Amino acid sequence: MSAYKEQLLSFSFDIKHAQGNSLARVGTINTPHGAIQTPAFIPVGTKATVKSVLPEAMADLGAQALLSNAYHLYLQPGADILDEAGGLGEFMNWPSPTFTDSGGFQVLSLGVGFKKVLAMDAQTFRRDDVIAGNKDRLAHVDDEGVTFKSHLDGSMHRFTPEVSMQVQHQIGADIMFAFDECTTLHNTRPYQELAMDRTYAWAIRCLDEHKRLTDDRATKPYQALFGVIQGAQYEDLRKKAATDLGSLESSGQSFDGFGIGGALDKGQLGTIVSWVNQILPENKPRHLLGIGAPEDLFVGVENGCDTFDCVLASRIARTSAVYTMEGRFNLSNSRFKRDFTPIDDECDCYTCTHYTRAYMHHVFRGKEIISATLATIHNERFIVRLVDQMRQALLDGNFSDMKADFLGRYTHRSGQARD
Ligand SMILES: [Zn+2]
Repeated sequence: MSAYKEQLLSFSFDIKHAQGNSLARVGTINTPHGAIQTPAFIPVGTKATVKSVLPEAMADLGAQALLSNAYHLYLQPGADILDEAGGLGEFMNWPSPTFTDSGGFQVLSLGVGFKKVLAMDAQTFRRDDVIAGNKDRLAHVDDEGVTFKSHLDGSMHRFTPEVSMQVQHQIGADIMFAFDECTTLHNTRPYQELAMDRTYAWAIRCLDEHKRLTDDRATKPYQALFGVIQGAQYEDLRKKAATDLGSLESSGQSFDGFGIGGALDKGQLGTIVSWVNQILPENKPRHLLGIGAPEDLFVGVENGCDTFDCVLASRIARTSAVYTMEGRFNLSNSRFKRDFTPIDDECDCYTCTHYTRAYMHHVFRGKEIISATLATIHNERFIVRLVDQMRQALLDGNFSDMKADFLGRYTHRSGQARD
């Protein structure tokens, strides 16, 4: 095989260090656009941009990869435009690895009007009519796929597993996700079973179409495909999904890694993730979808997840909310008007080394555009660095101490969020 061809096919995962007494591990994901040292937090650039921040600044703050969204890019500018540009990374001036979310979550969440932050409490209420009965809903699911109305212009579209694969191949990210039916904690158990069976059938169709497209587009860099593990808060369903998708092979192709998705009850996050990760093939990477609050990242890492994405860090930054070692607070609060200290004096980001809370308070109050840029740089750095510190703690054998130290000081709790 030529060196060029090997480069094109270079997707692999090496585990460097595994903890004897837990599922946690340290590794490297190799992609055609470079390596990702794991555990790693992957910032979200939904529409091929991390809102308000230059890609160079994202690299400077330690982002190893970015995650964009197939649904949004399909609607605008169109996946064919990204294909013509040479793929997502080339299009958005990001030379490092990229991920795309399949659009499964988005066609359903935007379609039925879920809140962007999913309820993370299984006890509130359970009704399938959140999906099945609402006349105003914008998405209809059947066994073949999902028909949905564009949230941009009201036009009708249809995603099937095949369409999602075609769109994601055109977008050209290094890591893609299979098209799944994402449920909520509000759905009944019978509906969760139905959605899981559907996701399994769709997984086979994704593998088949992925294989066909990989052969068809043999001159393009290899794109890895991750299967998505559903099953909400049910132990038997989560374990069945991990067993079935973990060993699935179709068209001579198996999944290159896995995403843990669907409705995640925050109170049970660690338990759910450990059910799944005890079963999934150990030598393949595992991504926890839409999770990025500091306290949840510890739970994900110690239960064997390798990568994470969450839109929360940048979304809350634009509303003046920032993470610090002492917890989360709002810079627009008047108590910061004369505070000439950095947002977090332990943070090494560009914002904290050049600006004060008083300045941040001023630009937020004045609705200056730079407020979003500076706060996003800080929040993304805070989360990226926190996961980097977890990786180092695993290597040094003091993860438990590091976790206890951090959580002893950090007080804010927040939810799951995907764009
Ligand atoms: Zn900072």
